[in-house]
Amino acid sequence: MATQNDSRIPVAILGATGAVGQRLVSLLEGHPQFVLAEVAASERSAGKTYAEVTRWILPGDIPKEARGLVVMTVDADFASPVLLSGLDAAVADTIEPLQAGRGKLVVSNTKSFRMRPDVPLVIPEVNADHLALLDGQPTRASGGGIVTNPNCSVVGLAMALAPLHRAFGVEAVAVTTLQALSGAGYPGVPSLDSNANVIPFIDGEEEKIEREPKKILGRLEGGRVVDADFPISVSVNRVPVRDGHTESVFLKLKAKASLADVRAALENFTGEPQRLKLPSAPARPIAVRHERDRPQPIRDIEAGAGMTVTVGRLRPDPVFDVKFTLLVHNTVRGAAGAALLNAELLLAQGRLAARTSAR
Ligand code: NAP
Repeated sequence: MATQNDSRIPVAILGATGAVGQRLVSLLEGHPQFVLAEVAASERSAGKTYAEVTRWILPGDIPKEARGLVVMTVDADFASPVLLSGLDAAVADTIEPLQAGRGKLVVSNTKSFRMRPDVPLVIPEVNADHLALLDGQPTRASGGGIVTNPNCSVVGLAMALAPLHRAFGVEAVAVTTLQALSGAGYPGVPSLDSNANVIPFIDGEEEKIEREPKKILGRLEGGRVVDADFPISVSVNRVPVRDGHTESVFLKLKAKASLADVRAALENFTGEPQRLKLPSAPARPIAVRHERDRPQPIRDIEAGAGMTVTVGRLRPDPVFDVKFTLLVHNTVRGAAGAALLNAELLLAQGRLAARTSAR
């Protein structure tokens, strides 16, 4: 909770009781720039304290600063200038524009507005410059706006593709995902479907993975994003893993590159969060492992406190040029940590200044 001398910026979490919302609550504990001031969820939860209504699914206890907060409805008039959203899309469709129209900067995990031409879809290491799209949003004059982070599988894929696209040009991508249960929220997939099983379908997921990386890796030109122009073929699976999406990636490159060149490009990848030393930035956005059987969710998911994407099994491919396996923490780098890093970048770029000075 904010104290009187606290200069941190108050934030509200929309969907605070859900899987992503809980991660946000956890990541905000002791944050140097933001303080959790308000939480909101459905009518079912509103009016009760966060501790009363939240079935906490993360290790340890609910952070002290969240326990006693009274849950608000998501259409409430929040005091906080920044709203971190982990809402279901059906709710976000109307609530996020409503709150942006009231001058709130909404930093969203939800798919609803990711592909809207004037909405930035940002991974800070990859396309921090796309935040300039905010300036074209009609609510911007009041300080409001919507910024989004990608689908959880897309974050890992786009981060690995970014340095390779920059260095060699990506010509074509094929990817098969093995996605964790926590990606479906709580309670998620029924246990009789998920236990000791693989489900080769996740509604809408393949379309998102085929579409979103092209916007993220696109160029900002004349106030709009020109998508990257390579095809992506995707096949998804839900697997009985708690946290961490694994992806087998096959790549055709435009320029010739040795495995050593590819490895070096991945290992040396760094971006604005590292340059600006943002609080949630990992020292290395991508870690390349050399063991023959890594990455693995239970061994590598906490790399960089969940913010580092781990790449391994880098090898040549007889059909494509190279292939590798990557692992991304779906609720940290793939969701809550991604939103928080976007909020930190917005602050570093001075895009929260109008609202914070108006407090
Ligand atoms: P979740 O666990 O089901 O949580 C949903 C949250 O939304 C809860 O706080 C819930 O509140 C609230 N909510 C549901 N219906 C509502 C309504 N009618 N009005 C207001 N609030 C309502 O879902 P999640 O996994 O955290 O996902 C949240 C969003 O993030 C989704 O859009 C998802 O696609 C996206 N996302 C998830 C992941 C992941 O790995 N899980 C990754 C990236 C993006 P109550 O507790 O009161 O019902």
